Amino acid sequence: MKTAHILESLRAGRTTLWRNPAVVTAIDRPALTRLVEKARDRFDRFAPLLAHLFPDMGPAGRIASPLIAWTGAPITTGPMFVKADHALPITGSVKARGGIHDVLGFVERAAAAEGLIEIGGDLSALLEPRARERLASYRVTVASTGNLGFSVGIAARAFGLGAEIHMSADAKAWKKARLTAIGAEVIEYAGDYGAAVRGARKASGQDDRVYFVDDERSIDLFAGYAVAARELADQLDAAEVAVTRRRPLTVYLPCGVGGAPGGIAFGLRAIYGEALRAVFVEPVASPCMMIALAEGNGKSVSVYDRGLDNRTLADGLAVAEASELVLDAVGPSIDAAVAVPDGMMVDWVVRAHREMALRLEPSAASALAAIDVVGSIGEAADAAGTHVAWLTGGSLLPDHEFHALVGADTTP
Ligand SMILES: *Cc1c(COP(=O)(O)O)cnc(C)c1O
Repeated sequence: MKTAHILESLRAGRTTLWRNPAVVTAIDRPALTRLVEKARDRFDRFAPLLAHLFPDMGPAGRIASPLIAWTGAPITTGPMFVKADHALPITGSVKARGGIHDVLGFVERAAAAEGLIEIGGDLSALLEPRARERLASYRVTVASTGNLGFSVGIAARAFGLGAEIHMSADAKAWKKARLTAIGAEVIEYAGDYGAAVRGARKASGQDDRVYFVDDERSIDLFAGYAVAARELADQLDAAEVAVTRRRPLTVYLPCGVGGAPGGIAFGLRAIYGEALRAVFVEPVASPCMMIALAEGNGKSVSVYDRGLDNRTLADGLAVAEASELVLDAVGPSIDAAVAVPDGMMVDWVVRAHREMALRLEPSAASALAAIDVVGSIGEAADAAGTHVAWLTGGSLLPDHEFHALVGADTTP
């Protein structure tokens, strides 16, 4: 589809598909690749501490999720799985990967500056009261539509750091309440995510003791997400799923600013090369990545400037502008982008609950909606391959929020 037709379709609120006419399947970013390896090491080093601080996550201290075979009504010809990041430990969304990793990096740097630990060395001193006292003079700030602030705030407070969370109007009351309860400071905005970013950036200033988790530009955030790729590859191996060019792996990745899907796609492309199809999924009102890719000059564009209103039920994806870091790192390697209407996401929240007893938020259900869309127009070779819907959040949705979404239909 031509860019003008895509915009017309989006403005009409219709399901829209953009395909990359010239996908680049080679990843040649050695510096970024090394950062992803460092992120994996950092998660390993922190695992015993996380297990101690968050007993619910089990003794391994792993921020990892199951890969589950889809046993609902078939929507693909080839095998289909869901990657259950909606059930990730600690915060129940994909942000537990990138957001928590970014905070761990700052905790490590701050603790080293205080002489509490050495970078790359043993971290157990961080659990001592003395360490928490010293780290209390450090602070993390972030802007969020909800899930990023929730993950960053919980991680920072767990190590005794201050947390200042700038929340857009999309953010849900229960997330703000839980953050306030653990001693994070929540600053609310009447405007969208962009307004919260400007506020958070301003509040962060130049103080070395204040770290701004920059959703649009943080490389540590991106690297934390990318670690998920190896996890998925190991799970597909264990399930004896062969990924080949004739039977490719298609992953459906819900996209806001692009960090989570971008990091994951970066990692998967490095593993699977030409045998990967990375499909980014967005709401029809907030397709900032699709528009930037379709316009094709590597620049982010505001959806407002293209006649869209960024109003969607999918609070995790309610972002008007894509990250240029992501566009630069993986833009050319994204195979397709799909924009889906809110109604379709809600239908899939209901279906995922009825058919698989999954508790998803609309942002996560968008991945299932996208399989439905692409499946109906997909190429034969892709259809025969393996499909993975990345379910990015929702297991911690309170009952009243979830029941409001699925209506009377709450029996699995
Ligand atoms: C943040 C989020 C995404 C997308 O991540 P980005 O890094 O913003 O692209 C997808 N799903 C959920 C539930 C999220 O919270």
